[in-house]
Amino acid sequence: MSSDRLEAARGLLAAAQIDALVVSRLENLRYLSGFTGSSAALLITQTDAVLVTDSRYAEQSSAESPQFRIEVAAALPAVAAARIARQHGSGIRVGFESEEVPYAAWEQMREASDAGGSLLVPCRGLVEGLRVIKSQDELDLIQRAVEITSLALEETLPLVRPGAIERDLALEIEFRMKNAGAEDLAFESIVASGPRASLPHGRASERRVGAGEFVVFDIGSRFRGYHSDMTRTYFTGSPDAREREQYETVLEAQRRGIEAVKPGVAAKDVDRAARAVIEKAGFGDRFGHGTGHGVGLQIHEAPRIGARSEEVLAAGMALTIEPGVYLPGDGGVRIEDIVVVTETGRRVLTPTPKDSWILG
Ligand code: ZN
Ligand code: ZN
Repeated sequence: MSSDRLEAARGLLAAAQIDALVVSRLENLRYLSGFTGSSAALLITQTDAVLVTDSRYAEQSSAESPQFRIEVAAALPAVAAARIARQHGSGIRVGFESEEVPYAAWEQMREASDAGGSLLVPCRGLVEGLRVIKSQDELDLIQRAVEITSLALEETLPLVRPGAIERDLALEIEFRMKNAGAEDLAFESIVASGPRASLPHGRASERRVGAGEFVVFDIGSRFRGYHSDMTRTYFTGSPDAREREQYETVLEAQRRGIEAVKPGVAAKDVDRAARAVIEKAGFGDRFGHGTGHGVGLQIHEAPRIGARSEEVLAAGMALTIEPGVYLPGDGGVRIEDIVVVTETGRRVLTPTPKDSWILG
């Protein structure tokens, strides 16, 4: 990892009025240190950078995180980090990630802090705030994850026909993603056909795809820690006028949402641009979720693209645009791409077509 990231993390300390930060969220740890294991904590001060882990990861951590002093401890990593923080003097303020530390661990951290005269300070979103603007290297990894996912879906498309079982389609996509280099799924695959397509998070079931139905695929892969996320909706057979209107409305909403993406634009205005199309078509109450979310080391991260978002877009952000219209009992349509905010506008990463949705 670049020393820039460690220096940026040190910059956070002053802003948060803390002397030390204990980092527990694994994605933040990976971002700052390069460590890819599943159990560790970082302790960062202006003069020290420690990675605490257990004996399983002693060798791996020193290879992956050369900028950090490695401490192997039997205690919970965050607790061990709080104990090490005491060495930096009594009375210091030690920040910790309050969304990541279970209460039982916090109690032990507090005991360690009390004994050393330091004060625990709950913090939220500090390292996440650094992660929101991606470097070109990070965007390249997201692009790879996107391409793996698109390829897997396009290869599976010939199997999407009446009689196919949702779960079989999901497994086929998942095999192809891993075969193409994905280290894992980004999330549990959604394959939802017919009336199930109106479930925004309908995981693949044993249901057989019928004729004359929408089939929603919401899938993603992970490549070297970075996620992709895409949704495509297809139709088996000949859609009627109402089904065409439903699809065309979502497609137009997504197009308007994408066009609204550029630096300096409020995230809530991107949501508005997409939502306005759906409201105008009379489906306003059938689009309950936000228009999108940031994506990176986490599948859902900042910025949130919703009606109440307060974030402003900036070059280097990677986010999804994914409006949908869901008619309970009848079917749903969602279309989702990953978009990168550039200096002058936006670039859509997802290559899979959206106009060839009728499978005949
Ligand atoms: Zn998705
Ligand atoms: Zn998404």
